[in-house]
Amino acid sequence: MQDLGRPTAPQPDSSSPAAEASVRNAQTQAGTPAPARERRKPRISETPPAAPPAPRLADYESIIGKSQLDELRFVASPLRGKRVKMVNSTAMGGGVAEMLNRLVPLLDELEIKTGWEVITGGNDFFEVTKAFHNALHGGEFTLTQQARDVFMLHTEQNRKRMSFDEDLVVIHDPQPAGLISSKAGKSSHWVWRCHIDLSHPNRDVWSFLHPMVEQYDAAVFSSPAFARSLAIPQALFYPCIDPLSEKNKDLDEKYIQEVCDNFGVDRSRPIVTQISRFDRLKDPLGVIKAYKMAKKYVDFQLVLAGGGASDDPEGAVVLKEAQEAAGDDPDVIILELPPWSALEINALQRASTIIVQKSLKEGFGLTVTEALWKAKPTIASAVGGIPTQVIDKHTGLLVHSVEGCAYQIRYLLTHPEFGAQLGRNGREHVKENFLMTTNARRWVMLFRILSSSNA
Ligand code: UDP
Repeated sequence: MQDLGRPTAPQPDSSSPAAEASVRNAQTQAGTPAPARERRKPRISETPPAAPPAPRLADYESIIGKSQLDELRFVASPLRGKRVKMVNSTAMGGGVAEMLNRLVPLLDELEIKTGWEVITGGNDFFEVTKAFHNALHGGEFTLTQQARDVFMLHTEQNRKRMSFDEDLVVIHDPQPAGLISSKAGKSSHWVWRCHIDLSHPNRDVWSFLHPMVEQYDAAVFSSPAFARSLAIPQALFYPCIDPLSEKNKDLDEKYIQEVCDNFGVDRSRPIVTQISRFDRLKDPLGVIKAYKMAKKYVDFQLVLAGGGASDDPEGAVVLKEAQEAAGDDPDVIILELPPWSALEINALQRASTIIVQKSLKEGFGLTVTEALWKAKPTIASAVGGIPTQVIDKHTGLLVHSVEGCAYQIRYLLTHPEFGAQLGRNGREHVKENFLMTTNARRWVMLFRILSSSNA
């Protein structure tokens, strides 16, 4: 890792005199009666925009530099002409499909002929695989013979429908894992890419899948903590973001202003934002509590933006609770966004002074990656994959409680130069570890290792 420059760390219980002075200053401002403000009704787009074209490899040069791009082309060159198939359970929706939409054209441009296919199945199959998914995350589930039969029946149908003549086959997640029986007698190499946390799986479901998984040539997990002990080689690939996607590309200042105007966000005052589905595990109520505590000392607005409430009964309840907790405070702006809000989310993240992710549990936490990529001072809970991204006091601040979150909001709002240094470090950390181009390089290296084991 490069030397990112280590800023001086804040100490929770001892602020510098300058910091105290600026907090007192802010306190006076916060204490001054503000001109009466009313909550504005946000204008939210009701139609999805057209999908933008996938970027070309050369488009990444301005981000990762020519030498990194040349290196990627160089390490991929022995694989020219090899054919790769990726298989996923869904073509749309979900992070895996989004990632494949970007990864597949990149590998293809490196002259590794890559395609991806989606398995099919009836409702019965997807009900079983959804139950498997939850059970593998540790949920209760009784694995019946009927569930096994449904899984195997649809796996067989997919096997018959699909051909596997490629040199390398990558199967994503448990739903299509049974396709491995098509490997028999072929010289191809098969990888199982597991995106879910397998640290505490339901024992029955894992016993059912385990023998399939061990027929692969390698397994890839997103974190050492998510992996299982297996007899096959395992690799660690962090999830990644595409810096050229709508969610992450650079935006015109004018557009950012327009989004803030539409959403009733005042850019002349500090903005603290959490982007998340309205889900208890994202702790929006904890964020509002932290806002209320910090607001006694510093003036700022809180933006809580996310979707998932209209199609999730629990999400609707959590959204309502958040609205009730916010009351009629015009400085708490709660936005329920439709699923096609990538550009708006990007603009909100860029307009923010600080980004918070106060999750109680988390997978990897792509919202954190997105915030760090935008060089935003980030305060996030030390759960799931967040500590891999937020190195405390270096690329952001880790917190363990509402009080800690409130304290760090107050600290960062009064120490902007420290926040700016965290932001710069955070962006470098993402650039080195969590970009799509790094991910493509990891695939290339794994394919090379597997291909050479043929010799
Ligand atoms: N996101 C979104 N719309 C929303 C809320 C979140 O597009 O209303 C995006 C967010 O920008 C991120 C992803 O969904 O890219 C959430 O991923 P994360 O790993 O943070 O959490 P998850 O929702 O998968 O638990």
